[in-house]
Amino acid sequence: MNMKPSPHEGIDAIEAYVAGASKLSGASQVMKLSSNESPLGCSPEALKAIGETNAEGVSRYPDASAKPLRTALANHHDIEAERIICGAGSDELFHLLGRAYLRSGDEVLYSAHGFLVYPIVAQSANAVSVAVPEKSLRTDIDAILSAVTQRTRVVFIANPNNPTGSYLNADDIRRLHQGLRGDILLVLDGAYAEYVQADDYDAGIELARNESNVLMTRTFSKAYGLAGLRVGWGYAAGDILETLNKVRSPFNVSGVAQSAAIAALKDERFLQSSIEHNNKWLPWLLENINNAGFEAFPSVGNFLLVRIPPPLTAPEADAFLQKKGIILRRMGAYGLHDCLRLSIGLERENRAVVEALGEIAPQPRELAASS
Ligand SMILES: *Cc1c(COP(=O)(O)O)cnc(C)c1O
Repeated sequence: MNMKPSPHEGIDAIEAYVAGASKLSGASQVMKLSSNESPLGCSPEALKAIGETNAEGVSRYPDASAKPLRTALANHHDIEAERIICGAGSDELFHLLGRAYLRSGDEVLYSAHGFLVYPIVAQSANAVSVAVPEKSLRTDIDAILSAVTQRTRVVFIANPNNPTGSYLNADDIRRLHQGLRGDILLVLDGAYAEYVQADDYDAGIELARNESNVLMTRTFSKAYGLAGLRVGWGYAAGDILETLNKVRSPFNVSGVAQSAAIAALKDERFLQSSIEHNNKWLPWLLENINNAGFEAFPSVGNFLLVRIPPPLTAPEADAFLQKKGIILRRMGAYGLHDCLRLSIGLERENRAVVEALGEIAPQPRELAASS
C-alpha cells in the first residue's frame, strides 16, 4: 500500500507564492528592486533598539499581545489599543482572518490584479477566490458589488493596490462599504498608505473605527523599512479583534521586532525621509521610463508597473536587466504577462534602470532610424 498524508483540495489548488528574487548568479553587485522594500534601510533608532536587545530579551518570551507596541500605535494614530492586533507581517493577519471567518465553499472577492496572498488565504480555507475584473488597471467597485453572492464572506482591497499602483479615494471606499452586507468582512490593506500623497486618500481608520465589518491592515515592511523583522498590525471593531485573537498564536511577534517597531514609530524623521525620497524618484522614474518608450502606469506607492511594448517581451527585458545586475519582478502570476514591476530604489539604482531600459527601448530608436 502506498499511503501518504494529503491536504484538502483547497490547499492542492494553491499556486505557491513566489517571493522576489534577491540573487543573480555571476553578478557581484545586485540591485534588488523586486519586492517594494525600502531603499534607505530602516530607522537608525530601530537598529539601535535591535542592538540593545540583550540575552535576557532574547531568552524570554515577548509580550504575548504586543501591548507596548499596540499602545505606541494607538497614541501615534489616535485609536484604541484594545482594537489593534499585531502580526508577523500583515500577511499573518490575512491568514488569521481566513482561519476565523472562512468556511469551505465561501467566496472571497479581490480585484483581478490584487495582491496574490488573498487567493492563497481563500484556498487555504477551501473557500473560493473570485478575481473581479478591473477597468484600466483600477479596482472596479461596481464590478465587485455585482460579484457579491450569498456565499461572499470577505472582500480584500489593497489600497493602494500592488502591483498596479492605483488607489481608491475615501468616497469610493465608503461607497463600496455601503454596498456590502453587514456580514461581509471588508479588508482594507494599507501596506503602502504612508507613501500616498493624495488628499482624497484614506487608509480606512475612520471606517474601521465606526463599522463592525471593516479590518484595516498596515505594515512596518514598506515605508518603515522593517520587512525582515515581520511586523504588521490591524485595526477593527472589538468583535473582530476578539475573534482574530482566538486564532492568533501567542508570541506571534518577536520581542526584537516589537522593540524595533516602537522605535521606528517614534522616528518621524526617518519616515519623512523615506517618503521624500519616494516623492522625488517616483515621478522621475515614471517620466523617464515613459520617455524611453515604455509604458509606466501612474502609481501612488513605492513601485511602478511597467508595460514592455512589443516586439520586446517582458521576460526578454527582465533577462537583459538581470545581466546588468538589476532584479525586477515578473508579473505573469498577476496575469500581467507583458509587464514588469520595479521598486523605487536608490538614486544610482533608478538611474541604472533607466539607462538599461534606454538600451532596449523600442520606440525612440525606431523613430530616429526612420526620420
Ligand atoms: C508588501 C505588502 C504587504 C505587506 O506584507 P507584510 O506581511 O506586512 O510584510 C501587504 N499587502 C500588500 C498589497 C503588499 O504589497
